[in-house]
Amino acid sequence: MKTKVYDLLNSAEYDSGIHEGSAAIRRGGIVVFPTETVYGLGADAYNAQAAAKVFAAKGRPDDNPLIVHIARPEDIFLAAESVPVDAEKLIKAFMPGPISVILPKNRRIPDEVTAGLPTVAVRCPSRREASDFIAACGVPIAAPSANISHKPSPTMPEHVLTDMMDRADVILTAGRCSVGLESTVVDVISGKACILRPGAISAEMISEVIGRKVENSYEVKGEEAPKAPGMKYAHYKPKAHVVAVHGDPAKAAEYIAVRLSGIAEEGYRNPACAVFRGQDVDCRNKWLYNAPSDADEAANRLFEYLRACDTKDIDIIFVMCEDGAGLWEAYANRLHKAADEMIYL
Ligand code: AMP
Ligand code: MG
Repeated sequence: MKTKVYDLLNSAEYDSGIHEGSAAIRRGGIVVFPTETVYGLGADAYNAQAAAKVFAAKGRPDDNPLIVHIARPEDIFLAAESVPVDAEKLIKAFMPGPISVILPKNRRIPDEVTAGLPTVAVRCPSRREASDFIAACGVPIAAPSANISHKPSPTMPEHVLTDMMDRADVILTAGRCSVGLESTVVDVISGKACILRPGAISAEMISEVIGRKVENSYEVKGEEAPKAPGMKYAHYKPKAHVVAVHGDPAKAAEYIAVRLSGIAEEGYRNPACAVFRGQDVDCRNKWLYNAPSDADEAANRLFEYLRACDTKDIDIIFVMCEDGAGLWEAYANRLHKAADEMIYL
């Protein structure tokens, strides 16, 4: 397949990119598009064959449902059959934005999109490039992240060019994604309110809007059955051995320095580390977060750093982790899915 690529940040390519991308969707093709969370790989959500192409291009297991994207909150019934009261409150409060709300599925959405579930996760991205693209398609867009399955989600143009060149019909790029972690997935329709995947919209923010407690049900323990289909899959894995280091930042930096001093004896040749809160470590490949107290930056850079391990042939990476609410929780959740080793100091 010959992939057409358009840079939507170049005003000369904007209209033709949106036009070619939406035309490919209407022909049953698949298109990479930017959102505020991560890049998506989209197909017509009403077209089972087009959805099947998304699973094939990613190598995604077919029991992992796709999120359905709409251009405007008012379009919710293009994807949902009905909107219960609490879900409506969330839509009013947080859409457009980085949240996916579970709703009873509209019958036009085929089972292939929802992996046979009677529900659908609906999201309305806030980025102009995404809403213009979806509106031009004239149908809701079923889209997972635009990475090859198990790799970290793509947050930069080079990530989607690496993964989806010659796999997607069209790639629309628009620089870096501002959030950098996937949307919060929340279920408020099946009894207890539950976060199925943490993201930029936190449990506290959701609880405030619906006026009841919101549980976190994304840590799957032992043999327990996962509540969201995607939770059972390993994710975000670079080839490198990933060590998540929790605890006081100064202690974490000290721990990393000690491990690095004996890293050759552990059998690694090319270590890396990602540290924050003003810490520094003597290491050949080193990423320092510039905004030391800022969860936003840590979340924004995590996938970029994990992906850089593969391009730089890094074989072990130490990543500092902070325990906290909101985005720190989403950051820790994604890092844990990538981690081979977790250290608590
Ligand atoms: P991704 O497309 O990779 O961003 O992942 C989407 C995630 O949303 C999946 O891992 C699912 O667990 C979750 N999801 C999508 N649709 C549903 C649904 N109808 N019910 C529960 N979880 C869902
Ligand atoms: Mg994904």
